[in-house]
Amino acid sequence: MRLTVYGAAGQIGGNKILLEGQSRVFLDFGVDFNTRSKYFSTFLQPRRFALVKDYIATGVLPSLKGLYEKDEPPFAEAVVITHGHLDHYGHASLLRPDIPLYMGETTRLLIKARENTKQKSPENLFNKNENHPVEVFRTSSKLVFEDAVIYPVHVDHSIPAAYGLVIETGEGVLAYTGDLRMHGPKSEMTHDFVEKCVKMNVETLVIEGTRVDETEVSTEDDVRKELTRVASEVGDRLVSVVVAMMDFDRLNTVLSVAEKLDRVVAISLHHANLLTTLKRGGARMNIPELRDEKLVAFLERRRTGTYSKTDYPSWQTELIEQIPTVGDEEIRRDQKKYLLVLSRAEDIIKLSDIEPAPGSLFILSTSEAHSEEQMLEEERIHNWVNLLNLRYKHIHSSGHAPQKDLIKIIEEINPRKVIPVHTLKPTLMKQLLNNSGLKPVVEEPVQGRAMDVF
Ligand SMILES: [Zn+2]
Repeated sequence: MRLTVYGAAGQIGGNKILLEGQSRVFLDFGVDFNTRSKYFSTFLQPRRFALVKDYIATGVLPSLKGLYEKDEPPFAEAVVITHGHLDHYGHASLLRPDIPLYMGETTRLLIKARENTKQKSPENLFNKNENHPVEVFRTSSKLVFEDAVIYPVHVDHSIPAAYGLVIETGEGVLAYTGDLRMHGPKSEMTHDFVEKCVKMNVETLVIEGTRVDETEVSTEDDVRKELTRVASEVGDRLVSVVVAMMDFDRLNTVLSVAEKLDRVVAISLHHANLLTTLKRGGARMNIPELRDEKLVAFLERRRTGTYSKTDYPSWQTELIEQIPTVGDEEIRRDQKKYLLVLSRAEDIIKLSDIEPAPGSLFILSTSEAHSEEQMLEEERIHNWVNLLNLRYKHIHSSGHAPQKDLIKIIEEINPRKVIPVHTLKPTLMKQLLNNSGLKPVVEEPVQGRAMDVF
């Protein structure tokens, strides 16, 4: 068996890991944002008629015959998606539709909910002209392919329904972590994955190392305490918090803080859409109910600014009719009553209609800026914070395991070979493991170069 990392080799995200024996299976097929931002921006877009061609030319997509076009037999037997973050599934949308996709039941719903709010596009998985067939799995599933049997096992990450994969082949057993953490509210799920790896004698471990250089751990409970502390000091002023769309744990944390402070949570329409889509789809998880007394949606002004029905895209019109909402005037009049949840930092501009009292809180509860582009955007957000006379706080707990937990996971699984992916510092992982008592072989992947799995 051979393994080729087509994304996530010495970089974070864009995971596309090819497992190859007699047949081929891709583990994840995410958007390589790093490479994409080198060549494309809002004003420099790939051409719609040459989307795949432009992405291949720039190295955003691997150049492999039979993967996108139906010009040859299909390149791969299947693509197995670990979770619903774009850097893990996003470019599966560009694969030819006769290559089946496998993903968690709830992952499918999450992606659908996200795409509901967007225009039809070939880069959507579902909201496009030709639907891509999807097979769903859960933890007890067994995915049988020509050369490999894949056992998905839930892990804890900053999105529901994230999985690690334990893969049985004729030559041995390997495992791929996807993205995971041990310090989150559902750490027992990650333990289940590690246990399965131990039980199945995993020999090769493909592990994410996003935070291999981080020694600090802040837990979801730390976030809850800090949010409670700063929000209770704000008095009669407004509290607004930016929470990533898919970060359910954070949304639940914010809800519990609001309950304690006796504030009504007003979530973005994007969040409300996510909750209702999951509920309708029968997702097997606890979904907070939109109710008048506790949880409502913030009805923003659009287009004419008059709340006219025709101002809103159809997904919002439908949603608004079904759920309790609150407008900017109501929030402005009674700022101490609300805790506003925004889905993007850029939505700070919407606060200008609310006219938050000076010293109101603006809390960023998402990961920090990494790229140059994000840092520029962050500077803009800070300018808005100052313009609106707000107090800024960054309170967050990561979806990725820090150094000591990564090492602990590897120690427990005790593989013979470790392949670090989704990290800027694969060499650091090698050094750390060399210093541990285990000394597995650490093989740093090179983008597009095949290596032996065992
Ligand atoms: Zn992720």
